[in-house]
Amino acid sequence: MKFERVLNNALEREITPQEALFLFENSASPDRYLKLFQIASAVRKKEMGNFFLLDGWMGNLVSCKISPPCLYCSRAVPGHKRKISQFSSGQLAKIAETVKKTGTSMIQIGGGTNCEEAPAVMIRILQELKKHGFQVRVNVGPALEREHIQEMKKFGVDEITCSFETMNEKIFRQIKPGDSLEKRKATAHIINGLGVSLSSNIMVGVGESYQDRVEHLFYLKGLENLGQVGITWLRIHQGSPLEGKKIPPSPIEAARTIAIGRLIFRNKWLKGSSPQYLQLWIAAGANRQIHGGVSVHRKGERLIGAGGAGMNSGIEDIEICDGYVVSNMLPVTARWVIASGMDVEPSVRKALSLN
Ligand code: SF4
Repeated sequence: MKFERVLNNALEREITPQEALFLFENSASPDRYLKLFQIASAVRKKEMGNFFLLDGWMGNLVSCKISPPCLYCSRAVPGHKRKISQFSSGQLAKIAETVKKTGTSMIQIGGGTNCEEAPAVMIRILQELKKHGFQVRVNVGPALEREHIQEMKKFGVDEITCSFETMNEKIFRQIKPGDSLEKRKATAHIINGLGVSLSSNIMVGVGESYQDRVEHLFYLKGLENLGQVGITWLRIHQGSPLEGKKIPPSPIEAARTIAIGRLIFRNKWLKGSSPQYLQLWIAAGANRQIHGGVSVHRKGERLIGAGGAGMNSGIEDIEICDGYVVSNMLPVTARWVIASGMDVEPSVRKALSLN
């Protein structure tokens, strides 16, 4: 049968765009997607071993200037005010020391698209975190120009994110009316061209077709310094312009995209989204996650609705400065990773005494 034949071939080689489209069209039922996940997990194990990385996160470091805001963003909810976090060098050093003790080796730093402020803020934090031996990923959308990326490279940046979310131009304009796909593509190409590892996210379920998704995945495949692909899925904030206008996809749709992505990208990092679905992403072939490790934020403003997902017990909030905490989800998520048959970094195991 063709479905089994395509999957069996995928064990040995990258699938073609036609095969990717075939798998999207023929793996919606549980009997099919469970087989797809099994093959994707086998390819992950063969190509990248059994490690799952739980990166740290420090966000909201600069305001976003995209106007009007993207319709799926919390900024698009009327009355919503996003508070920006600013840290002195001393506070950054304290954050770094606290995060270090959790065994975390990589931190993503980021904020909104803000061409005036983002480059200097990111370079300052990058330099501070590098002093403490962290790997650092920067995500400020398309706010960086060539000279900023060159400077970050000089200071040892490990990865820079530039996401398109969707490459269907019409849908991009609908859901990101203040943003520019062309600018995002140009930034991604500069990062790639300068030999810096590129990370890029796809948002599933915004109205794109399977063909759009396949073209997006293979466009990214063509970027030689692509290091990581993130698969997120549309979630709709209460009171946002999308409420009542769009139905968000099932997380299974994101998981199927991760699995098909694994059969294309083979030895790249594939990242899932919300931590409460961590084991679904693992089953589908992912091997990386942010928002499932440590995060820095104001006390009482833990992100990602972890509490609502019943993940509060076991998460440590470590007070650092001026009402800020380092929230450590690793006591929960590292155990979930290990329970699924994968492993976390030795430094995380050691910090949690899981040897
Ligand atoms: S670029 Fe990011 S932060 Fe800015 S409006 Fe869009 S989703 Fe929100």
